Amino acid sequence: MEGRNFIDGRWREGATPFETINPSDLDEAVGHYTKAGIADVEEAMDAARRSQPGWAAFNMQARADFLHRVGELLVAQSRDIGTLLAREEGKTLAEGIGETLRAAQCFHFYAGEVVRPQGQWYNSMREGHNVLVTREPVGVVAAITPWNFPIALPSWKVAGALAYGNSVVLKPSTFVPGCAVKLAAILEEAGLPGGVFNLVMGDGRAAGNVMIDAADALTFTGGTETGRVVLKRAAETMTKCQLELGGKNPLVVLDDADLELAVEIAANGAWIQTGQRCTGTERFIVTRGIHDAFVERLEKAAKSYRVGHALDADTQIGPVANLPQFNANLEFVKNAQVEGAELAAGGIALEARTRGYYMAPTLLVGTRNEWACNQQESFGPIASVVMVEDLDEAIAAANGCDYKLTAGIATTNLKSAERFRKGSQAGMVMVNTPTAGLEYHVPLGARAPSGYGPRETGSASAEFFTESKTSYINHGAA
Ligand code: NAD
Repeated sequence: MEGRNFIDGRWREGATPFETINPSDLDEAVGHYTKAGIADVEEAMDAARRSQPGWAAFNMQARADFLHRVGELLVAQSRDIGTLLAREEGKTLAEGIGETLRAAQCFHFYAGEVVRPQGQWYNSMREGHNVLVTREPVGVVAAITPWNFPIALPSWKVAGALAYGNSVVLKPSTFVPGCAVKLAAILEEAGLPGGVFNLVMGDGRAAGNVMIDAADALTFTGGTETGRVVLKRAAETMTKCQLELGGKNPLVVLDDADLELAVEIAANGAWIQTGQRCTGTERFIVTRGIHDAFVERLEKAAKSYRVGHALDADTQIGPVANLPQFNANLEFVKNAQVEGAELAAGGIALEARTRGYYMAPTLLVGTRNEWACNQQESFGPIASVVMVEDLDEAIAAANGCDYKLTAGIATTNLKSAERFRKGSQAGMVMVNTPTAGLEYHVPLGARAPSGYGPRETGSASAEFFTESKTSYINHGAA
């Protein structure tokens, strides 16, 4: 595909050409794009600034209808966009289509959000007064996204921003800009006024700095180290920040767990979508009594997956999305082995019918929670097992890592589940269900350093996308 930047309602060539390749087939180029230059990014920010008041004043019903129409177009184009996603990012076709439908659900949800009540009315301490709390758009939103959810993630940020009356400049990852280009085309087709949504493709720091400096608010998803950099930059201009960052998510498996269910949710959390979900499981914390049986079954599950070309009908796990991540994964496994981890499954590159970044689902056993392999995010199809004695030790190990994104437990004991839920420091806790797999109508977020600032998705995102105003009104004694 050919993809250009979308600035002030017009498709524009940028300064530097680049292309993407198919991680399932390195001989296939997928997209040809151009990176926006600094002047282009500045123009996009200006266009967003000029158009925002008009969009905020747009008729409510028209705004809701618009968001609904975008959702409908995403549904109608889900096969096309899902296929592009599979070719550019490496998710299987079913996952690509599923992710596009999720993007549509986000637009449909936020179409409803436009007309849901916002604000509060309070009685006043003073006679003849009352107090009104209303919400107003935060203004110009900069949205910066990673490569692992190329359509759903930009969609929930853009849909939320637009629903509450903001304008947006989106910068997707240069590994996977194709879906963002499709989204821009859909927003244009749906009739969004020029400048309200802008798409710029570009290198993180150069484009990102211009965006952060000129925006009222930055919604960012990416790695924790990048998050620290953008937060420092945002401090200069006091740009409001919402950061969703890395994870090292644990799944605790207790002796009383339903073994079959525990293995199923463990395998799903660790390896589905090639382990490239920020909420994926990277640590299994397993009590002694169930440890050997759990590891034996999980090893079998790891070895049973069919890894292959993302568009092949029988593929269960597609390739790693890009070369830097592929190399980092193999390096991660090597380092873990040097530390003392034993390789129970995977750890190697695989061959398929085409040349691609294929990696076998990997299970490391005999590891200790304090080792680097249990402290550093891998973001690949790699998970390790730590053995513990009881629930107390399991909770301590689960919390014994800086990252605090998701955490799960497999147990048939309600009391243990509740103790874990309360004791976990993660932003999202899962009981007898994979650590990954989020829903769009509830808050998504984590504690630092896995997240920073107000939550996203669902109505909770109003906290970020709006500013509240408290008004004291003396209407006189009735
Ligand atoms: P990344 O941090 O390398 O890049 C993310 C985005 O930031 C890209 O668009 C990149 O171009 C941009 N960027 C890079 N440097 C920048 C700078 N100085 N200023 C502004 N923007 C800059 O992350 P990635 O490799 O694309 O994605 C993987 C990471 O994302 C993993 O750590 C994963 O856990 C995380 N992630 C988190 C969530 C969540 O909800 N918590 C969801 C998905 C992914």
